[in-house]
Amino acid sequence: METELSTLTDRILSLKQEKRAVILAHNYQIPQIQDIADFIGDSLELSRISKKTEAEMIVFCGVQFMAETAKILSPKRKVILPVIEAGCPLADFITPEQLIELKGKYPDAWVVSYVNTSAPIKALSDVCCTSANAITVVKNIPAKKVIFVPDRNLGWWVQKHLPKKEIINWDGYCIVHEQFKIGDLEQARSLHPDAEVIVHPECPSDILESSDYVLSTAGTMKRAKESKNLKFIIGTEEGLIYRLKKENPKKEFYSLGNSRTCLNMKRTTLLDLCAALENERFLINLDEDIIKKARIALERMVKYG
Ligand code: SF4
Repeated sequence: METELSTLTDRILSLKQEKRAVILAHNYQIPQIQDIADFIGDSLELSRISKKTEAEMIVFCGVQFMAETAKILSPKRKVILPVIEAGCPLADFITPEQLIELKGKYPDAWVVSYVNTSAPIKALSDVCCTSANAITVVKNIPAKKVIFVPDRNLGWWVQKHLPKKEIINWDGYCIVHEQFKIGDLEQARSLHPDAEVIVHPECPSDILESSDYVLSTAGTMKRAKESKNLKFIIGTEEGLIYRLKKENPKKEFYSLGNSRTCLNMKRTTLLDLCAALENERFLINLDEDIIKKARIALERMVKYG
């Protein structure tokens, strides 16, 4: 079994070199994928790498919208998503038709879309944001009225911090983070009273309100590393807990309630990664007009964020 695994790992590494590829893995990927990736990070960190990379091929171990974002930022490179069915139910919460209708109702509002959206939604947006920069982006854009899509919890969090802005919040949510309940938080706190509670802004609003820190996955990594505290209760997908434990071996990390898994993020295996490199599949192709418009929204995110 171990020999098989090392043969597979060797094959991936040699294909990577042969194809001049870079392997990017989101923080929620399975441990074997995290361990072999060149870079692990959140959407924002991986987008930056996609933009800067000199590699000829970007193999994105994540979900559809992430590989699309890499293609928008690096249109000349081959972008590969090893499992094409790996989608994001949160991104699917809004369709271009629904957004066009909403824009018609609020013509003076700016559309701020979370990066967890499809390329056509980004192309219809004025600016994008991530969970790390959503508040800053909305604060800095020259509009009082904002259509925020698709995550209602992140939208709520932004509105709470920016009461002078009027946020028209879309009613979507992440099916993984939505499962965390306030009772889980109370129980975790009673079991580990000296632990810091860090949650992702896609969690329900009552959890956001009651936590010590509301941070993106990259923000959580940073906080856990810098904090003097030795114990943490983490409210996000379990893949991040693997990385937190690996990079902070002297600290303890507990999931807020039962560990929560994003099945789409867990679809990519080493075999899929190997096949992706070998057969250059599945190539992400986007309409040029969509790339052009979506890129403007992503570049504005850098400007305002
Ligand atoms: S964890 Fe939630 S937001 Fe992230 S990919 Fe899975 S469903 Fe989408």
